[in-house]
Amino acid sequence: MKQIKLNARAKINITLDVLRKREDGYHDLSMIMQTINLCDNITINTTEDGNIKMTSNYSWLPCDERNLVYKAAALMKETYNIKEGLLIHLVKNIPVAAGMAGGSSDCAATLVGIRNLLKIKADDNELMKLGKTLGADVPYCILRGTALAEGIGEKLTVLPPFPNTIVLVAKPPINVSTATVFGSFDLKNVNKHPDNNKMTELIKNKDLEGICENMCNVLESVTIKNYPIIAELKSSMLYEGAIGSLMSGSGPTVFGFYKSYEKALKALKNIRAKYHIKEIYITTVFNTSK
Ligand code: ATP
Repeated sequence: MKQIKLNARAKINITLDVLRKREDGYHDLSMIMQTINLCDNITINTTEDGNIKMTSNYSWLPCDERNLVYKAAALMKETYNIKEGLLIHLVKNIPVAAGMAGGSSDCAATLVGIRNLLKIKADDNELMKLGKTLGADVPYCILRGTALAEGIGEKLTVLPPFPNTIVLVAKPPINVSTATVFGSFDLKNVNKHPDNNKMTELIKNKDLEGICENMCNVLESVTIKNYPIIAELKSSMLYEGAIGSLMSGSGPTVFGFYKSYEKALKALKNIRAKYHIKEIYITTVFNTSK
């Protein structure tokens, strides 16, 4: 029996711009993504029965064909004609349906994990093409680090590594559907768009203050109207000493950048108490190169 353990890391959006609605109903996006060290843990074992079996620490999370981990394992088995069975255990730490690409990251880690475990000859580019069929964010979750994502999120350009910073992540106890957010999105209601060229320069110069001043997510125009707690969380993070704060993806997760762990910890304690938030974490940015 062979075994491999993987960390599937979450992402945050430093920017998120919607350029236009496409004929197929999707939206063309332009966004700068950053991997963070908040992660799910995945353990993959080979078995002799030839089947895929998946378990998770969350009893309510489907562990069958509906789970992106299961889908990734099934796709790998089919594509590379894998005869071994796969027993996969997923420990979720990344908030679910939160705008942090948790499911996509689990999917990406499963593709990479099975390749590495069984020494399948497929490079990351090949896995990204496969992953794209399971979700637009999956190729980015294979790439990781700092990147500009365009199209529906699958066209990637590697950017210079992000400056080191402490990240406070808080998911308010509300459920926001990505489909509903995009469904109610109207470009006419957006008064500020991110400048991704300028942001790329700021990242290159490791200018964290400048980055924070220019962070922008146009989907806040929909979510903040429906869920004022998102704006309150942003203000609270800034009040508690964050250099900058933004909603990630389609929300409802809000993150803030802090200069010290102590400041972030004080903010965590005060925000947790004030808003009764259970899913609140301190982490750091993850870069693939220095
Ligand atoms: P994104 O940032 O890409 O919009 P998200 O954070 O909004 O992602 P996820 O946590 O990835 O959303 O999951 C959204 C839905 O996908 C959940 O409601 C869940 O039922 C389903 N799902 C399938 N596989 C997984 C998985 N491995 N982890 C979490 N959710 C999963």
